[in-house]
Amino acid sequence: MKKQDDPKDLHAKLKGELCEHINHDIEKSEFDKVKNRVKHYITPKDFKDAVDMQCLLDILEKKNILKVGKYDILIMIFKDFDVRIVENVIQPAEENIKRILDIKHTTHNNDEDDSSNFVSSDKCSEKIAEDDNDMVSCPAKKNKAESANHSDTMDTLEQNSGESTSCKQLPSCSSASKTHNERNSVGDILRFLGFERYIKDFEDEEVDMDSFWTLKGDDLTRMGVKIGPSSKIMKYIEENTKSSIFPLQSTMVLNSKQLYPFQRELLEIPLSGENTVVYARTNAGKTLIAFTVIAEHLEKNPGGKVLFTARTNLLLDQQFQRAQEFFLNNKKIDLFCLRADEDRTEYTFSNVMTVYNVFFMTPQLFVNNLSRNDDLKVNIDDFTLLVFDECHHTMGFDAYNKVMAFYRLKKFQNATPNPILPQIIGMTASPNIYTSQSEDDAVEHVKMLMANLDVVKLSTVVKEKEDYEQRFDTPTKENLPVASRDNDPVVKNIISAIKQVERKMQADSVKHDFYIMDTDSHVWKDINTPSPDRSSMRYLNWLQRTKLKLEEMDFSSLENESTAYKIKRFLHACFRNIEVYLQAYGTNETLEYKDVKEELQKECELFEHESQTDCHEQEKELVTIMQEVINGIPEDETSNPDINKVIQELENEYKERGSKSRFLIFVKRRMTALKLADKLPDFLHSHHLTGSSISEEQGGLSVDEQNDVIERFRIGMHKCLVATSVAFEGIDIPDCNMTIRYKLDANVITSLQMRGRIRRKEGKELIMGTFKQYHKETLNIERQYIMNKSVEMIVNNNDNQALAKELDKLQTDTLKKEEMKRITRNVISKKNAQFDLHCRKCFMFICKGNFLRTLLECHRVVIDIELMDRIKTKPLKKKARFFDGLVKKYKVEGPCCHDWGVILAKDDVNMLCLSQDDIKVYNTTENKYEKNFRKWIEFPFEVDEMTEEEFLNYKQSVKLIKTTENFS
Ligand SMILES: [Zn+2]
Repeated sequence: MKKQDDPKDLHAKLKGELCEHINHDIEKSEFDKVKNRVKHYITPKDFKDAVDMQCLLDILEKKNILKVGKYDILIMIFKDFDVRIVENVIQPAEENIKRILDIKHTTHNNDEDDSSNFVSSDKCSEKIAEDDNDMVSCPAKKNKAESANHSDTMDTLEQNSGESTSCKQLPSCSSASKTHNERNSVGDILRFLGFERYIKDFEDEEVDMDSFWTLKGDDLTRMGVKIGPSSKIMKYIEENTKSSIFPLQSTMVLNSKQLYPFQRELLEIPLSGENTVVYARTNAGKTLIAFTVIAEHLEKNPGGKVLFTARTNLLLDQQFQRAQEFFLNNKKIDLFCLRADEDRTEYTFSNVMTVYNVFFMTPQLFVNNLSRNDDLKVNIDDFTLLVFDECHHTMGFDAYNKVMAFYRLKKFQNATPNPILPQIIGMTASPNIYTSQSEDDAVEHVKMLMANLDVVKLSTVVKEKEDYEQRFDTPTKENLPVASRDNDPVVKNIISAIKQVERKMQADSVKHDFYIMDTDSHVWKDINTPSPDRSSMRYLNWLQRTKLKLEEMDFSSLENESTAYKIKRFLHACFRNIEVYLQAYGTNETLEYKDVKEELQKECELFEHESQTDCHEQEKELVTIMQEVINGIPEDETSNPDINKVIQELENEYKERGSKSRFLIFVKRRMTALKLADKLPDFLHSHHLTGSSISEEQGGLSVDEQNDVIERFRIGMHKCLVATSVAFEGIDIPDCNMTIRYKLDANVITSLQMRGRIRRKEGKELIMGTFKQYHKETLNIERQYIMNKSVEMIVNNNDNQALAKELDKLQTDTLKKEEMKRITRNVISKKNAQFDLHCRKCFMFICKGNFLRTLLECHRVVIDIELMDRIKTKPLKKKARFFDGLVKKYKVEGPCCHDWGVILAKDDVNMLCLSQDDIKVYNTTENKYEKNFRKWIEFPFEVDEMTEEEFLNYKQSVKLIKTTENFS
């Protein structure tokens, strides 16, 4: 009998074959698109429900996931879901998959004699497992059935025949669905992973089951295993040898029996149905607890709807993936993940609400949907359980608290005395303090958080403290003092340049202009009183404060308005020059001279470009100063002794831990993350991990890239990550054995979370910084102590009724404030305030506010046709981007040479899309500049959505102008 007749072999073989086949046919962009959609929209349940391939394809089509080559897409799912998903998601549908593969096999091998036996079984094979009689009647199937059901015999046969090289231990029928404990040979595992082509290599190397688990990436490379398979094998090893302290890290399907005693204690209040905040250290399995609550909740309330919310897309993605694994075999749970960047035309809320019962959404998206008036609107009481991940953010204006504002409205303003409200579960490792100095402050802070979440009882570990403590090791902490660089020429030049710029700002000519125009502004006084220590926080504060004051100065009523604008533009440029120097100062502390040089050169080019339009030559002088600084930077390759210190530490640690090394370095800035990762020794294959809210050009990573980087770190392809604050919170970063905080001022929460990343035994934490930074860190530890104390005090209070009353008061106070805000906001919009938009850097008029519209509720475009004549377009650094039926085509700058935004095209019609960072809003009703805002959502005025009619008019005029141009 041919070995390929074994269905499992075939399973793996075909998977490999088809994967190769697929690569030629589909565009990468198309592939990625589909992959992402599959990742977000296909739930394990879909696989369970798919009784045959057609059915699976139907689901994919119904969800608008694919319309192209059908087989291809299916294979993509095979290929691109990693091993874990294949194991957990595809295997339960194994019978279906087998059929699918059988069919595929037919189509592939029609002309092969060898396989005709097996192929003919195509149709009958559907019943193979259940129906013995049927099998007997079909000879081909019989072969297959034998191989399936009598694997012992098969083994003997194969061994006797002597022709078996690649499958000495033929797996039994259910091999692919064996749990890893049942996969008891190296061959089994390789076959399961789809790498049977390496079985021979493993045999040659005499890799048995014992040595298999100790393999390292380097061993595999030596054996000639390619990088892709190698990483999957390493991942398999890692997953199956990992300690079980952190159950969610493993791929094992969990049930509540596996909970540790302390986790069961943490579950008591949530399972009672009461609102609570689960407070336990990073990595104590809070997600597991949340999922357990969700499962129980839906068990008790079959019609219930659950919202799981996390503040970033990355976090949400990770939690959604975990949920898919966790709820794999739970037939009562249907998961749905909504992302802000998805096409919104595909669903209505009422539709998805009837199909799914557990929703994953960011709080902002949820708030948006709560505030709508159309098909996508939801109500807070449509849900029966809300879970807030990292809930300590539920304060002030945070999106979490905006969600809770809807809850408060429902709770207090309902006509019925006891409105039905969803249960609230918050999870956090750090309920408290950014600045709380004393226990009293801390207690107040925690109480506020509890009030905001409508929680009276905290869930903490009290009874099972011993169990809790013994499961975690505390890493050792060491200070790594920074080397002092006395008389650093770069520092000297930078400080001197800053002083030169200051003198230009304080010049007599400026004073003269101020004398003419300034009546009551303190800007001139502030300009003359900077803080003397240019590298201090105080100086930075002075800079930012004065710059904002300058921006808000209004000259519009002055006679010599143009002089005033010129001086304002110049001073603004001065402030931005100083900002660049301060940034360079930071770069010099953390990186090498050449990095400082590179950074300054880039900025200098920008200033040079801007200064073209400056008619007073003043900005050009600033450029000259900067060029001098650049020229004075030494060429040394390695100038920073601190980097060498870090490298030394990494090397020592690597010697000890070898391929098990996983290091995390935390830095303050993106740029440091990028550059430092490059400077570390090659054998670590370091990579940066940065945020997703900024573009790739600025050093950001997309959510998918972040996931990929973390995944590669987990399987050891990167031994070291250099991360910015994105890594601080919540993201499931795998175990690591050393963290280095590289010249970082951490607050309590980040400090705590960074420590939480060190999970392995004898983990180590290095703090590289000045004595001040180290001291601050010790202070953080004191604060952590205070935090724990404050939580303890609240938990141990013996008057729950009084506490409840106190919290109720806090809640109603917040509600009143929110009510006031709603009223004032209405008043403003009723006033129908008028505004103009100005360039942030030079206060040049851009357009009247009534030309501003929103597009798809998230982009702000200008429908002023004349503006298109004034702006200049520049190519994007990346190529054009398509989204939501729009194309991002160019960068845009105004006549002043300052950036204003980008060109978005809809139906080939170009529109200016403004960036909030580039504009200043001038309130023409009150004659004053509005405060800067960070996101459009905070924009102080109502902006209408562009109507279809307006768009057509605009389109018409664009065309008209084009035609006239052609004539002239
Ligand atoms: Zn400008």
